[in-house]
Amino acid sequence: MAGRVVILGAPGAGKGTQARRVARKHGWPHISTGDIFRSHVDHKTAIGQKIESYMHSGQLVPDDLACQIVVERLAAPDCTSGYILDGFPRSVPQAESLDQMLSDRHESLDAVILLTVDDDELVERLTSRWTCPHCGKIYNVKFNPPKRENQCDKPECEGVRLVQREDDREDTVRSRLRVYHETTEPLIQHYGRRSLLQRVAGGASPEAIEQEIEGMLTAQGAS
Ligand SMILES: [Zn+2]
Repeated sequence: MAGRVVILGAPGAGKGTQARRVARKHGWPHISTGDIFRSHVDHKTAIGQKIESYMHSGQLVPDDLACQIVVERLAAPDCTSGYILDGFPRSVPQAESLDQMLSDRHESLDAVILLTVDDDELVERLTSRWTCPHCGKIYNVKFNPPKRENQCDKPECEGVRLVQREDDREDTVRSRLRVYHETTEPLIQHYGRRSLLQRVAGGASPEAIEQEIEGMLTAQGAS
């Protein structure tokens, strides 16, 4: 049986990690709209140029453009036995488009997984990345801190102080979380009403979370 799965969660909740694990286990494509958007931007396609202008101004990619990209992707032959969608839908209008697209094809979703993590924990995770402006090395001050506080370990970077990229600064992170709560959280009601939604606490280890998701997919018959 096919497995059509959506994974939801705030930035930093670990959606990408879990989506990759589920995809690998089941042999489904991991469809990350973020990756598709970046690839369009990197290849300077017409769509990529549109996307870039939204990303530069800190806006979400508009619903119709995001939907167009996903519709094209889901029509590919590797999606017939299932897929895991990561980063889409991101709003209720996107979810309604997905519902419409699936019903046109006499298909439906098998599961929607929501990874839940407290905002303060997300801020801590997302602001812990610091970069050496000299060599570009990235440190996570929580998981692999530099030997000397705030300084790069490399001998050639002696005395260079680590900096935070704008994306990793607390005010930027908080504003991304605000956008998430405003646009993505209404999806919880959208899918909750159809009893598709499964909540998974995102604070556990990646292995424990993967096991919990696996159990849910098996119970839903999506395997
Ligand atoms: Zn360095």
